[in-house]
Amino acid sequence: MQALLTEIAETAAAEADRGKVATYISELAGIDPGQFGIAVATADGRLFSAGDADVPFSIQSVSKVFALALALGRVGEQIWRRVGREPSGLSFDSVLLLERENGIPRNPFINAGALVATDTYLATSSPREALGQLLQFIRAAADDDGIHINETVAQSEISTAHRNFSLAHYLASFDNLHAPVDQVIGTYSHQCAVEMTCRQLAMAGRFLVDAPKMPGLVSVERRRRINALMMTCGHYDGSGDFAFRVGMPGKSGVGGGILVISPSRASIAVWSPGLNRYGNSKLGTEAMQTFSHRTGWSVFGVPHRGAER
Ligand code: GLU
Repeated sequence: MQALLTEIAETAAAEADRGKVATYISELAGIDPGQFGIAVATADGRLFSAGDADVPFSIQSVSKVFALALALGRVGEQIWRRVGREPSGLSFDSVLLLERENGIPRNPFINAGALVATDTYLATSSPREALGQLLQFIRAAADDDGIHINETVAQSEISTAHRNFSLAHYLASFDNLHAPVDQVIGTYSHQCAVEMTCRQLAMAGRFLVDAPKMPGLVSVERRRRINALMMTCGHYDGSGDFAFRVGMPGKSGVGGGILVISPSRASIAVWSPGLNRYGNSKLGTEAMQTFSHRTGWSVFGVPHRGAER
């Protein structure tokens, strides 16, 4: 495993075409696209890493996985009255389907659905308490109290969150948002501004791995369902392509991070800030394609020797 990760990090370091860093959140625009990190937390309790695996980055939409787990813990299956479970086939911040589908977002991993999840875990607490609970969940999952929210990134996102505000107002107009719009956007933007290294994120994803040593923060049924949603909806309108190339559940963020789960084997975090045309990490996706091919960890089976990637 260590040799494979080192090789993947070396290949990534030499890559000239690294994709484009997100610029619509000004704090993310200045991140050096030359970075690449990968970490794997295995079911037997080991942690491997290579490249810039100790550099903190903004997890952005990877946070939607933790937010969904927290929201499910709050209201259980009732959340599915307010948000669907289908891929949207549209970009992460699209408003298009909301009007046609009466304010019920397609899934909890596009922005509209994530705003509903945030609204759900915000329902009975103040934004400060709610964010405290989210951080507590992530820290417990990662077994690391050092994980924090980058306030500058959160404020930077809020100052240009025009699309997210419009999505939130749209949801509110259909009575599918209960807390005030400002509070939901403020909480959501702070949630996205959680900062982690690849090593911390790989550790935090262990609650989605089915093995005795993993933190039991959600039920078996919920773990299976969150993994299913990551597989079908975790990469926006690039979800089909990620499943095709990698064959494992994953959730990406515009900070360039991807959390990937091998359901009974490991939690994997990869990070490289340059994005592909779907808004998912370009080198992160390519690295996971190599990783999946070499380990045979696709949930769809092991490739034959010499098979095309
Ligand atoms: N905070 C970002 C937004 O709402 C998250 C998007 C993403 O990571 O895909 O625009």
